[in-house]
Amino acid sequence: MDAIDTRGKAVIFYGAGHEAQFEISKYRKIGVEPVCLCDKDTEKWGRSFWGVECIPLEAAVKKYPDFAMVITPRFPLRFRIMEELLNSKTVTKDQLLNYEPYIKMKSCLSLHSILDANAAKVFAICCGQIESSRRPQIPFDGNLVENIQKIEQYRQEILENLNSPNPKDNFCACDNCRWATVDYWPVDTRIRTLKYDFGGRCQFNCTYCFSPARHNMVEPEWSKQARLPELTACLKQIDALHPEAVIEYAAGEICVAPNQEEIYGVLEHYDSVIITNAGQYSPGLAELIAMGRVRAMLVSLDAGTAETFQIVKGGAGNFNQVKANLAKYIALGALVDLKYIFVKGVNDKIEDVEGFVALAKELGVNRISISKDHRNGVVSEEAHIFSLMKYMISCAHKNGIAAILASGFFTDDEIKLLNSVSL
Ligand code: SF4
Ligand code: SF4
Repeated sequence: MDAIDTRGKAVIFYGAGHEAQFEISKYRKIGVEPVCLCDKDTEKWGRSFWGVECIPLEAAVKKYPDFAMVITPRFPLRFRIMEELLNSKTVTKDQLLNYEPYIKMKSCLSLHSILDANAAKVFAICCGQIESSRRPQIPFDGNLVENIQKIEQYRQEILENLNSPNPKDNFCACDNCRWATVDYWPVDTRIRTLKYDFGGRCQFNCTYCFSPARHNMVEPEWSKQARLPELTACLKQIDALHPEAVIEYAAGEICVAPNQEEIYGVLEHYDSVIITNAGQYSPGLAELIAMGRVRAMLVSLDAGTAETFQIVKGGAGNFNQVKANLAKYIALGALVDLKYIFVKGVNDKIEDVEGFVALAKELGVNRISISKDHRNGVVSEEAHIFSLMKYMISCAHKNGIAAILASGFFTDDEIKLLNSVSL
């Protein structure tokens, strides 16, 4: 992000939700310190988040009459808030540091901003909320430039059709998708989240991994034709990548990628989320963390004891080494989300849940994330696993650790039930 001249104004950050953490750290990097946070949620008033006090908006504008503002939630909520504040004349466009042109139209977050280079050997513009065979996507046939042009062209065609007064019937799955809504979306439809999971090799062998080709350090041949440096170069060539795009790297294990220096060279220019098994310490990754380029690291540990860890990881990996590596990354400032994928008969013991939460506390992770076994969408119907999930949330809360449910794997009812877990 480029430097911003706030001309001595007090900068108020609006929205004290999860996204605020990223926005605050992004602006701090360029020397902008929030004077306060504002939020509609009265429960947050008087509390501090990431070192910033949250107060009502009315009080903030009174206290800091010469203010500028950053709206922290991601779009479309970001633009809904902007619209409300602009209409009520609480702010002017000039005061909004992250203002950009937006428009009311039908779209969804994926359609508007995501490209998923997926391990299924496809380029998808759908976040995966719908069944994979119906997603708007095109197969990768080895011709990277052509495929990228095609998928970006497809994105524009879908948007046009969704917003046409006479849309074509059966154009694609977006037609009647519940995620496509009329809302405020940016005029700029360049990619803001590039999910990169195109093959890649891995030294682990997790029981739940659905991409066995990665195991034992095997990188699929096809994925070598579209590694991250080539893909980003291609996207830049057609100006499809937003300069503030976030790259989510999940292709096998980054720390054993043969071209990791090149990958780190790309990631120096973007914020990233790194999905890693932390089985190997990488000085290149450590450097990116120290530069403040890594927004978060997602690590599936799935165990609370060294014995269970060995089983989950298919005999690979060293629990204590992973712990030591994570401690080093966290000491450099990494925000780690520690994940637990419940696998029936493998890591469903009380001591694993307790050991996992104790480890999360010892390391000082950002939060823990709970998931079902990816290959088995009905696992939570196992009462035993479901009650362990509840127990994990309760243990996390008791230890002051935030616990979230991995998105896309739980039904609305399950989310309601798990989120209502008390101490
Ligand atoms: S199918 Fe639905 S979720 Fe997927 S891109 Fe289209 S509107 Fe979005
Ligand atoms: S660490 Fe990830 S890529 Fe490697 S085997 Fe496990 S799930 Fe698969």
